[in-house]
Amino acid sequence: MVEKHRHCIVCGLPISPEKDPPVCSKKCEFLLRRKERRERIFWGLAMVPLIVLMVLLLFLGKT
Ligand SMILES: [Zn+2]
Repeated sequence: MVEKHRHCIVCGLPISPEKDPPVCSKKCEFLLRRKERRERIFWGLAMVPLIVLMVLLLFLGKT
């Protein structure tokens, strides 16, 4: 029989499958949110050179 449970995506402890977000405690939820925010900032920064490049190409194409 397969146990129906999930694991905390932060520390890996078994948690109930209804948990949303899938974390075991407030502490892990906090860590998860901090990680998500960091990733969002990272991707936001990664987009900046891309946008600059696109704008440059647009200007170069016009002149
Ligand atoms: Zn945890």
